[in-house]
Amino acid sequence: MKITAISIFPEYFAPLELSLIGKAREHKIVDFKAVNLRDYTYDNHHTVDDTPYGGGAGMVMKPEPWGEAIDAVIDKSDQLIDLVILTPAGKQFNQRVAEEFSNSAHLLFACGRYEGIDARVADFYRSAKNVRVHEISIGDYVLNGGEVAAMVIIEAVTRLIPGVIGNPDSLAEESHNELGSVEYPSYTKPALWRGHAVPEILLSGNHGEIAKWRTTQGKLRSKGEPHK
Ligand code: SAM
Repeated sequence: MKITAISIFPEYFAPLELSLIGKAREHKIVDFKAVNLRDYTYDNHHTVDDTPYGGGAGMVMKPEPWGEAIDAVIDKSDQLIDLVILTPAGKQFNQRVAEEFSNSAHLLFACGRYEGIDARVADFYRSAKNVRVHEISIGDYVLNGGEVAAMVIIEAVTRLIPGVIGNPDSLAEESHNELGSVEYPSYTKPALWRGHAVPEILLSGNHGEIAKWRTTQGKLRSKGEPHK
């Protein structure tokens, strides 16, 4: 899978060299590139923002550098591109969207700053050939920029790509595989820690009963109740 992120802070993506995503990049399962939006400006100050039409606080990101930066990615690609415009006003990201994005050939993230990106950028690419536009929020709160949101999505999506997680079985029982369901509580050694014992059933070796217990505990946690 190709992943490109356009941002005024491409250095933000340095952590994507670490851990499982770092390995997936080494093994060429994931091809990640960060693009500096300011490379698509032509004035001495590399300006990417301007005052909002209609007045109001803050600055809005200008459409021209965004158009040129996105065009440059599209022009180099012969695949369908999923353009993910990060905005707190977008559709909320969840495991279903992560699954949908994990089938993408090329995810292109537009990471806003200031008061966000001129709305015509989304409008323009909605009618562009070979582009699907997704306006996505990672939750009902406001971040300073889209870089962290892009990294959340990249991490959730790339772990679903075959070969990224060492043991694919670990994906099978995970939280949110079904809408509203979460995984059972997990325990490891020692069996007794600070007076808290591992539930006896997990030491029984009875796999049928363990599976039943885990289902019950997952259901309790899905309802927001503590495990027992
Ligand atoms: N004025 C915007 C609003 O109220 O909807 C907020 C702009 S925010 C300060 C700057 C940028 O951060 C946004 O353009 C977006 O790219 C990113 N961002 C902030 N919160 C986000 C969220 N919950 N999900 C995704 N991106 C977010």
